[in-house]
Amino acid sequence: MIRKTFKGGVHPPHYKEATEHREIEKARLPQRVIIPLQQHIGAPCELIVKVGDKVKVGQKIGEGKAFVSAPVHASISGEVVSIETLPHPVGGKVLSVVIQSDGLDEVDNNIKPFGSIESLSPEELKKIIREAGIVGMGGAAFPTQVKLSPPPEKTIDTVIINGAECEPYLTADHRVMLERTEDVVFGIKVVMRAVGVSSVYIGIEDNKPDAIKKLEEAVSGEENIKVIPLRAKYPQGGEKQLIYAITGREVPSGGLPMEVGVIVQNVGTVTAIARAVKTGMPLIERVVTVTGSGVKKPRNLLARIGTPFKDLIEECGGFNGTPGKVIMGGPMMGIAQTSLEVPVIKGTSGILVLTKEEAKQYEPGPCIKCARCVDICPINLLPTRISHFSQMGMWDEAEEYNALDCIECGSCSYICPSKIPLVQRIRIAKGEILARKRKK
Ligand code: SF4
Ligand code: SF4
Repeated sequence: MIRKTFKGGVHPPHYKEATEHREIEKARLPQRVIIPLQQHIGAPCELIVKVGDKVKVGQKIGEGKAFVSAPVHASISGEVVSIETLPHPVGGKVLSVVIQSDGLDEVDNNIKPFGSIESLSPEELKKIIREAGIVGMGGAAFPTQVKLSPPPEKTIDTVIINGAECEPYLTADHRVMLERTEDVVFGIKVVMRAVGVSSVYIGIEDNKPDAIKKLEEAVSGEENIKVIPLRAKYPQGGEKQLIYAITGREVPSGGLPMEVGVIVQNVGTVTAIARAVKTGMPLIERVVTVTGSGVKKPRNLLARIGTPFKDLIEECGGFNGTPGKVIMGGPMMGIAQTSLEVPVIKGTSGILVLTKEEAKQYEPGPCIKCARCVDICPINLLPTRISHFSQMGMWDEAEEYNALDCIECGSCSYICPSKIPLVQRIRIAKGEILARKRKK
């Protein structure tokens, strides 16, 4: 079996043993959920409920009016008890709707199946995906319907389904591929019809042989859907790396996958699409891997959007010793948290709890000019220079050194012997450059 890959990258330990064989379990119904109106890349939603309103599961509570936006929905039934700016797991504070559960878990009357894929036109399918508030669930949270609507001058001939899950510790996508195989295939067919492509590849790292086998069996009768085993290497799940490994096409600097005729969708995203079409239920829950040696019983939990992190950690037996660091996502691209009151959002693939001893390994020292970060960068950037410009507030220089091309894979931070938070600094530079561009 040929296992495809890309140039550069690193080989961090996988640390997936704690949860890779644990089936997805339904998390307890939360007493209270916090639904931020911004959970995606693009414009925030406009509020369409008020304090005191009674809401049901799946009811829209925030309207995504801009083209690049995605609506949000109530994930439990109950009463809107407050609308306020609250801490967000991606950073800062965001206007959020707080719903107190009535314990009934009543579904909104408008939630109904849409019928077979064949009975729906591509435009109708895209509308369903938009109204369901579906975004990229691998972490990027880009509105899916926008990705599926490229400008007419761009010809898309290939869809790649991202089942690489190359981040250490995380196993949510792995379990989805094993336990929701039928939905993965159904969602792929929806995407094929919505975009009008006939060629689909499912890329899976070879450290998940059971998922490769299960999906190969599931698509054995499908001429146009192929499973591609990929060499386990970080960041194999980065869009540019995945596209190169599977098709040999290189997305140009500053470009999007559509420039080379490709759309990439995560496996979690296609299962959310399948659920929206099959049942009418919008994106109100997702699989979250709660793991790390700082948590007593690591698990893969199907959690309602808006569930506070602390509820899920408690459901996993609580902390194992004194926690040193809580991260949303994995250790490479994840975001360190300062509060456990923050909610699960659509892009929360995992909650990683590191012990105090483990967290110590991330404390930075001075740069020793070893250039390992330069050698490892899969985009051929100079992470140490961009990081320096970021610290100095030299945004023009950071842009000249192509900071915007950084895919935030975290390989440079991982390989740095001084544990300098390069990717975090580059992320800040990117934010500043983009903010300045928007102002102009
Ligand atoms: S500079 Fe960006 S793309 Fe390069 S290794 Fe660091 S995080 Fe990855
Ligand atoms: S890897 Fe770390 S220590 Fe080495 S040059 Fe890059 S920033 Fe400096």
